[in-house]
Amino acid sequence: MSTVDKQLEEMQAEIENEVPPDISITEVKYEGPELVVYTRDPKRFASDGDLVRRLASQLRKRITVRPDPAVLSKPDSARETVLNVIPEEAGITDLDFHIDTGEVVIEAQKPGMVIGRHGSTLREITQAVGWTPEVVRTPPIESSTVNNVRNFLKQERDERRDVLERIGRQIHREQLSDDEWVRITTLGCCREVGRASFIISTPETRVLIDCGDKPGAEDEVPYLQVPEALGSGANSIDAVVLTHAHLDHSALIPLLFKYGYDGPIYTTEPTRDLMGLLTLDYLDVAAKEGRAPPYESEMVRDAIKHTIPLEYGDVTDIAPDIKLTLHNAGHILGSAIAHFHIGDGLYNIAFSGDIHYDDTRLFNGAVNEFPRVETLVLESTYGGRNDYQTDQTDSERKLIHTIKNTLDRGGDVLVPAFAVGRSQEIMLVLEEAMREGDLPEVPVHLDGMIWEATAIHTTYPEYLRDDLRERIFHDDANPFLSEQFNHIDGGEDERREVADGEPCIVLSTSGMMEGGPILSWIEHLGTDPDSSLVFVGYQAQGTLGRRIQNGWDEIPIGNGGGRQNTLSLDMDVETVDGFSGHADRQGLENFVRTMNPRPEKVLCVHGDESSTQDLSSALYHEFNMRTFAPKNLETFRFV
Ligand SMILES: [Zn+2]
Repeated sequence: MSTVDKQLEEMQAEIENEVPPDISITEVKYEGPELVVYTRDPKRFASDGDLVRRLASQLRKRITVRPDPAVLSKPDSARETVLNVIPEEAGITDLDFHIDTGEVVIEAQKPGMVIGRHGSTLREITQAVGWTPEVVRTPPIESSTVNNVRNFLKQERDERRDVLERIGRQIHREQLSDDEWVRITTLGCCREVGRASFIISTPETRVLIDCGDKPGAEDEVPYLQVPEALGSGANSIDAVVLTHAHLDHSALIPLLFKYGYDGPIYTTEPTRDLMGLLTLDYLDVAAKEGRAPPYESEMVRDAIKHTIPLEYGDVTDIAPDIKLTLHNAGHILGSAIAHFHIGDGLYNIAFSGDIHYDDTRLFNGAVNEFPRVETLVLESTYGGRNDYQTDQTDSERKLIHTIKNTLDRGGDVLVPAFAVGRSQEIMLVLEEAMREGDLPEVPVHLDGMIWEATAIHTTYPEYLRDDLRERIFHDDANPFLSEQFNHIDGGEDERREVADGEPCIVLSTSGMMEGGPILSWIEHLGTDPDSSLVFVGYQAQGTLGRRIQNGWDEIPIGNGGGRQNTLSLDMDVETVDGFSGHADRQGLENFVRTMNPRPEKVLCVHGDESSTQDLSSALYHEFNMRTFAPKNLETFRFV
């Protein structure tokens, strides 16, 4: 008998010992990091609201209880009973019974009403029908990404269960070594922005953190071939942790599956969905630009199938000697700081990913309290000594002023924006300004992936800032559903009509004007001196956006039949800073100053050479801690 089986047998005995004698336990097994307990008496189990929590803390495992398939009531009659138990206002949109697991997945507009006070309605459901309810939110704005991911996972249920069981046995395998050491190797994004990737190794375990691409330099991929990474085969990696969905962190995660990786990806649920959206778009763009995509869309599906979603604050075993906890990073939807607890109190490392320290309209500021942390790996995008951003209130005032002037003289306002994050932040500014009378109520058109990204945001209000979440949850005052917003889904005809019509605001991708519908908008509006082009995000060196900022006014347009025309840009060009998703220099210092506990060592990464060095030396002088600005391919030993 394998050690894992022996371990499961012992745990089954311990559980039988703990539960009342008339509750029968038929099987105990691992599914990913969770311990699944099958019982013939799910109703008795559910009647003691505290039982599962007691078992979880005694066994130090995450526990899910499932009915033994033999005792389930028929789906048809169960359906009726479930609908009777749940209040009508919950707005059930789908009920799906899974015989193999005894779960009923309930999709509802108001999941809170399905859950009930402290889970009381859920327990009532189990008591009535024996099935284990699982609740998901109906997206308030229909999202094809969320639909596709959910349908795909439904389809792949059987295979996914096998994947999870295999991962579960892997996580709980016997520890083989008595050695104690902990190392980090830097595989990318050191003294550069892009291709974020690190590896933590211990005698037992190797964990890859992020696997990104470098925008504009797609041939520079992370050093996955060195022995410390995938050199001895992708299967030597135990787990992958993804901090957030931006392509400089996520783009090459699917590539790992092409290399033969078949382990778990730990991240948040919204990051999983956004990763699907952004990596598929990444393949699309590569194909359109005539580059060979590094992997096929099949590998994106593999990545989604192997994703184990975690919520902020969940402490999760990901290896015999490593526990992972994700915390809000305040950067984009679902973005996380990854905290690793290694060994039995041996060492603690936090990877910041990308962070925003202060609250924004969309998100609460980054978490910087941890039970313990000895080393912090900190982003330094704006770590340079002069990298101070305009205060967001001032930026918002300037944006509203610029828009108002343009509308007053009868022009249109065109804002190139990234689909994820900045667009929704600007939408919230516009919605409030119109509601409070600071801007006239004109249509705001959303083009490119912005609508889809917004739909994903509204699917996961738990990940948004407190007051915004409350508006979406309770008041039916979802600002994203404001009637000002219009999704451009009618293609070129609709664009022409909008451009010829009344004054309006257009938010469109791509954010740096490197492609996407923004180029059509330039063709429609570019020659109108009354209209304005307003930049709200960083424009990288070499992009069309940066050139226009620098005064370029002959814009190449159209590529039909190899013919290139130019358009002379007569729009007013404005830049409004201050809407960044990153902490600026002050924010990074504040993050470290108020961090609890303060780390002993800081590795400054994810910034150009001078930013990482500036930040490293400032933190050293200010807080008297050991700081580093590593290069790629360095290895640090901590224990
Ligand atoms: Zn990012």
